[in-house]
Amino acid sequence: MLCKTDGVVLKQTKFGEGDLILTLFTKKMGKVQAVAKGVRRSRGKFTGSTQLFAYGEFVLFKGRDLYQVSQVDLKESFYQLREDITKLTYGAYILELTESIITEGQTNNRLFHSLLSCLSVLAKMEKAYETVVKAYELKLLSYSGYKPELDRCVYCGKAGESVIKFSSKEGGTICRSCFGQDIYAMRISSTTINVMKYLMNTDLEQIARLRVKSDIMEELNKILKHYISTHLEKSKFKSLQFLDTMKEIHNT
Ligand SMILES: [Zn+2]
Repeated sequence: MLCKTDGVVLKQTKFGEGDLILTLFTKKMGKVQAVAKGVRRSRGKFTGSTQLFAYGEFVLFKGRDLYQVSQVDLKESFYQLREDITKLTYGAYILELTESIITEGQTNNRLFHSLLSCLSVLAKMEKAYETVVKAYELKLLSYSGYKPELDRCVYCGKAGESVIKFSSKEGGTICRSCFGQDIYAMRISSTTINVMKYLMNTDLEQIARLRVKSDIMEELNKILKHYISTHLEKSKFKSLQFLDTMKEIHNT
């Protein structure tokens, strides 16, 4: 059985003598693992289209167990993501995060388009990548069933109460009268709530021009990190650990 679908390479794993197993986010089938035969021996056949970030039209053949890549028409390699180590690491994190939330056989068009837009915006940027990455995290969560509730209290349901905390467990804000309900809930300011709403509802091109104050960014970072690790099976991202190490080196 042959299947033709647009897809992005999220992950590569060495397989056998000269093969690679690619983890793809495809438009028609969600997450797919497919073997690219012989790529590690001769790059010629697929010319860059099996590298991380590669976006193209994949022709996949269903073998006995795994899919096999029979042809790729490369549309975009996002090569500029490789221009700088910080940008590359954020790019790698975006792939890792996406890989951990998508599932086999389940399409997610909004997330697929957000991923492409995120990679293309990051590729063109030269600094201050963090806001775009935070916006992508929020969009990914929203499109995968974890949209945070920011307009009312997740415990009493009242809107317009003064909000003081964010509960990762319940996925939203908690008002002053209910704040004891989740002992792990984290403090959140009204500015951070507004920034989160803006990031969820604005396209990434526009967000690339936005500057968020460092204290707000710090709060947002803490909340999203906790929220992601509460709901995704994976909480340790290799790329993020690397970024933290780089930040430490930079600050000392
Ligand atoms: Zn409440």
